[in-house]
Amino acid sequence: MLEARSIAEAHLYLEIQVCQTCNLRWDGVRHALRTLEDRPVAVYSLSCSSCGARDQLEFLMPREPLPPGPLGGNEPSKIMDPGEFHAASDVYFALARDAVEQANPGNREKVATLLRRSIYALAEVPKFIPPSEDRVPPELIVSEIGRASYQRNPDRFVRDRIEYEIQDLLNLMQRYLPDAGPVN
Ligand SMILES: [Zn+2]
Repeated sequence: MLEARSIAEAHLYLEIQVCQTCNLRWDGVRHALRTLEDRPVAVYSLSCSSCGARDQLEFLMPREPLPPGPLGGNEPSKIMDPGEFHAASDVYFALARDAVEQANPGNREKVATLLRRSIYALAEVPKFIPPSEDRVPPELIVSEIGRASYQRNPDRFVRDRIEYEIQDLLNLMQRYLPDAGPVN
C-alpha cells in the first residue's frame, strides 16, 4: 500500500496520475476513509470520463495528522520522487502566474494558495539530498515526469539553488501578497 505523510501529499500524488488508456488525469475522484489496525487509510476511487476506466488507490496515513501546509515532515516522500516535486512546483507556479495575468482582484487568494503549494512542493526536493552531499542523487529520480524535469535542468536539484528558488518565491509572495499570511 502507498504511504502518504499527509492528505496534501496524497492529493498531489493523485494529481499526477493518469488513466493508462487516455493518458489524461482522472477526472472523477471519490474519497473514503477506513482504518487498518490503528492507522487511517484514505481510499480514492478514480474514474476517467473519456473511456470509463476505474481505479482505486489506498494510502496508509500517519496516526497523527500533520497541520495543514507542508506535504510532510523532515523525511522524504515514499511515493513521489524529487523530480516529480520539482515538476509539481513548476506547474503551481505557472498557474499562479496565469492567475496574476488575469488581473482579477478576486484571484488574490487563489494566487496565494498556488504560490504556497509551489513552495511546499519545492521544499520537498532537498529532503532527498544526503547530508554529506550538495545535490539530489540522480538515481533517486525514477519517474518519467521526474526524469524530464531533471533533464531540463539538473542544476535545479542542487541544494543552494533550491533554497534560492524557495526564497525567491517567498519574496514574491511578500511583495505581491503582503497580507496573505506566513508560509510555515
Ligand atoms: Zn481513460
